[in-house]
Amino acid sequence: MNGGARGESGSVLATGELPEDARVDAALRPTTLAEFIGQQRVRDQLGLVLRAAVGDGRVADHVLLSGPPGLGKTTLAMIVAGELGVPIRITSGPAITHAGDLASVLTSLVPGEVLFVDEIHRLPRQAEEMLYLAMEDYRVDVIVGKGPGATAIPLELPAFTLVGATTRAGLLPGPLRDRFGFTAHMDFYEPDDLCRIVSRSAGMLGVALPSDAASEIALRSRGTPRIANRLLRRVRDFGQVHGNGEVGLDTARSALELYEVDDLGLDRLDRAVLKALVGMFGGGPVGLSTLAVAVGEEPETVETVVEPFLVRTGMVMRTSRGRVATASSYTHLGLTPPGNPKDERTDRQEQLRLPEPLNG
Ligand code: ADP
Repeated sequence: MNGGARGESGSVLATGELPEDARVDAALRPTTLAEFIGQQRVRDQLGLVLRAAVGDGRVADHVLLSGPPGLGKTTLAMIVAGELGVPIRITSGPAITHAGDLASVLTSLVPGEVLFVDEIHRLPRQAEEMLYLAMEDYRVDVIVGKGPGATAIPLELPAFTLVGATTRAGLLPGPLRDRFGFTAHMDFYEPDDLCRIVSRSAGMLGVALPSDAASEIALRSRGTPRIANRLLRRVRDFGQVHGNGEVGLDTARSALELYEVDDLGLDRLDRAVLKALVGMFGGGPVGLSTLAVAVGEEPETVETVVEPFLVRTGMVMRTSRGRVATASSYTHLGLTPPGNPKDERTDRQEQLRLPEPLNG
């Protein structure tokens, strides 16, 4: 899962999976399509693909799920296996370091099994090419030996369903993308759906959560169930320490304030990016790597973790000349957008502190 530096630093808004998430995520995962909340179109379409396969008694088409981290791609892969009544094998692009790794996974599948490859865009080139044949003909050519004496030994594979997940669909080569019978793009969740997810998780964790507190958590979860579940746990902890286990709207607000998650779900890194864009680069356009250096992050983190949400909320635009702040960026930082005749500094602008530029 691509959480980038924010994931590694353990921020409460990390989109990637933190060590503490793995256990709780597993416990909170819906196990059937009917239990899976939101993403109606993906659910309907996938439901049809699965029902058709089960009805015909054949192996289901390969499925590609794309979208930002934490939206439920792994969960859906498990649901696919569950609905088909077959086992699932889980691996990821980075875990497969060469084609031989993939060959040993493929040759040990049982008939009908679902193979889930997370971050499939990160498969090594040779493994990716091996997958073309495996997906199309359920066959692999295992190369034995090296140099001119190397020979390809064809091996039959059991029929299987590949479920690939990617946060970067654009990085997937055309020939690989074309071999998936069904492709679904998962988008950020609507607040109502997130609210239902938070309430469901609260019930499973034994937390009595009033609906106003659930929607407060939902609104600050950046459209992402993984973040919603994590914020819920922080709110529950806060309630245990400060309120004898009681969790109300005030508890939720205080906990989220403590973790510096603002009312739109932006954290310190998001705000640092906005402040740099507005304060250091006059609102842009500015290139991704310049912006990343200004906030001391990797360009990939800014691109995959910070930007998608800022773009979605309309605060940042990606243009061919670089990133540009929109009027709502200024408003969110308490500033007057440029071009506004009443271009006065507000109190919050005085307080605006720019991120420290990196040395050198
Ligand atoms: P991804 O693979 O896209 O990074 P996951 O499938 O690991 O995301 O989802 C993260 C967590 O969010 C899951 O453990 C699950 O508890 C929760 N979750 C994701 N989607 C849903 C959903 N539609 N309904 C309920 N919970 C969800």
